Amino acid sequence: MSQRPFVLDPLFRSVGVISGVGPRMMKLYEKLLGGIRLRDLLFHKPADIVQRRLIGALSEARTGESVCVSVTIDKHTPPTRRGGPHRVRALDPSGFIDLVFFHAGGGWVEKQYPVGAKITICGQVDDYRGTRQMTHPDLLDGPPADAREIIYPLTAGLTTKMLRKTILSALDQTPELPEWLDPVHVSRMGWPTWKEAIINLHHPQAAKDLESSCPAQMRLAYDELLANQLTLAILRLKQRKLKGRAFPTNGPQRQKLMVALPWELTSFQREALTEIDADMMAPHRMLRLLQGDVGSGKTIVAALAMMNAVDGGAQAAFMAPTEILARQHGETLRPFFEKAGIPFTVLTGRDKGKTRETALAAISSGAIKIVIGTHALFQEDVTFADLGLAVIDEQHRFGVHQRLELSNKGIGTDVLVMTATPIPRTLTLTAYGDMEVSRIAGKPPGRKPIDTRLIPLDTLDTMTERLKGQIDHGVQVYWVCPLVEESEILDLAAAEERYLVLQQIFGERVGLIHGRMKPKDKDAVMEKFVSGAIYVLVATTVIEVGVNVPNATIMVIEHANRFGLAQLHQLRGRVGRGDAQSYCFLVYGEPLTEAARERLKILRQSEDGFLLAEKDLELRGSGDVLGTKQSGIAEFRFADLTSQSDLLISARQDSSLILEKDPDLQSPRGKALRALLYLFERDQAISYLRSG
Ligand code: ADP
Ligand code: MG
Repeated sequence: MSQRPFVLDPLFRSVGVISGVGPRMMKLYEKLLGGIRLRDLLFHKPADIVQRRLIGALSEARTGESVCVSVTIDKHTPPTRRGGPHRVRALDPSGFIDLVFFHAGGGWVEKQYPVGAKITICGQVDDYRGTRQMTHPDLLDGPPADAREIIYPLTAGLTTKMLRKTILSALDQTPELPEWLDPVHVSRMGWPTWKEAIINLHHPQAAKDLESSCPAQMRLAYDELLANQLTLAILRLKQRKLKGRAFPTNGPQRQKLMVALPWELTSFQREALTEIDADMMAPHRMLRLLQGDVGSGKTIVAALAMMNAVDGGAQAAFMAPTEILARQHGETLRPFFEKAGIPFTVLTGRDKGKTRETALAAISSGAIKIVIGTHALFQEDVTFADLGLAVIDEQHRFGVHQRLELSNKGIGTDVLVMTATPIPRTLTLTAYGDMEVSRIAGKPPGRKPIDTRLIPLDTLDTMTERLKGQIDHGVQVYWVCPLVEESEILDLAAAEERYLVLQQIFGERVGLIHGRMKPKDKDAVMEKFVSGAIYVLVATTVIEVGVNVPNATIMVIEHANRFGLAQLHQLRGRVGRGDAQSYCFLVYGEPLTEAARERLKILRQSEDGFLLAEKDLELRGSGDVLGTKQSGIAEFRFADLTSQSDLLISARQDSSLILEKDPDLQSPRGKALRALLYLFERDQAISYLRSG
């Protein structure tokens, strides 16, 4: 078993070793950083550097300027509505200023700013309807030591000053690490060492030192990308070394299923299938990603691939992320499998007792060839006689580790991962670099385009009124209130509020579904929507609405301006599945930023998921987009894939070369690279190397 190099030890110590950081602070750091080791702290990037002017009186404060000023706290005005600001009025002999706080619950503001306290505040002065105000000011105990202040992203309860002090202590304890980059590359790029880069990161001299193009930031970004690409390259290498099995690709079962299909495959489907066949035919193990929009026809391609396994005398499994989806995939495929006479079963958590036992027995005896179920099922006690192919419908991103664990279920099991989230090519490299990729870039013929419209929030009532007419005619509607706030509870409140309002209009025909419900309850609501007992389904998240309801032809998306193209596209994809004309209403509130306007316009013009994904990445610079997590984009701390795809390509080439020369990372540079992998928590990759 390989071990983390000792040189990294100081970086993996808890922030608790820094004096002044107690249990309470550690909780805050955990919240802010997602971890409490010095490494997590050092990786916390400054957001800004500001030049602040110390002023003697509030009357000197100019709008837009960053200042420090001494004031006395006068009074508090707590929020009057959900998500509204908490205001604190502060005075000096020359006038007053309002200090504004958002989302600061738990009496935090009252504690930090007690009435009567004399304090020094720093921040940018704004003008709000003629009143001077400062949003989330920094609180200083005394006069500022340095007019140049480095600003970090914070969490309620933590001040810039406390964070800064802790980071500086952590920097003092930072070791020099062995160089893992090629020295020629480093000197050609003019990059500092890792330690210098980390020090520079926290000691910017000017705004340009915080840009991703400055040498220190570039170095850190490259390190991060290299750790990512090297990990994937190691996994790819391991995968290739695993023995797989060679399946026939045009056997009798496959031909039967092909004949059972009522239509021709599209050229995209044929192409993807040819790529899958080539993998399955070859004696290595397949690990392939099949990308394509919802409704592009992936499921049927997967079913045809499963026939290869069956023709080879093995079994195949199809895993869906939820119960409902598992059952729905079962329903989609049932007619084809039945027509072709292929023994299959759908197995979900719902099947209990005797039914379940019988199914499990038939799976382990090999009598059943195809099993469709949920991810969870397969992690449990299901044993296969001989699992030849596992198809994973991933819906949301599935970790690299999980993929590996899965292929360990059978001997030489081929793995086909399907995702309906088209992602740009650069991101495919970072998220799925261990896999081969096939794309289905177009839909089967005959689909009507979805009529996509922008609806200003203040005309929502008119729209709802019109919807009523549609619903009376039997049309079903998804009404999505996506996650907007940091707090799930607040989001839920928004959806519940909407639900109540719609109930007034539509009565019993409205249902509500959200992430905090028990799976059983969610399923029940969803079932009602599928069966047509509910006409309007209000939902907080995307997850629950992955199912196919052809009768649902209207999608309403609230806060559409706050979401990225990819996510909006994903939501919109829930409609347009039947023959009838479908609509998507993008509800937006003012003010609409230029970037948001552009996004919504593009969405109206295109339904091509791959194109939208590329555009999405391009437009992301604007930074006002929510929902990046789901798309797997917010994964990097230092690297910015919108502007640094060249670094990514070079990291990819670098990793291939490294492993060609030193596949187990045994050379001096290889050993240094192991430290890099540990630093970025790629321990799993290291476990696949021969230890050294
Ligand atoms: P995905 O899995 O990519 O969401 P599906 O495989 O479920 O898409 O296909 C969506 C719908 O299109 C299904 O009803 C399926 O029967 C139908 N379909 C698939 N391929 C074709 C094709 N080549 N021609 C016509 N219809 C197709
Ligand atoms: Mg499908």
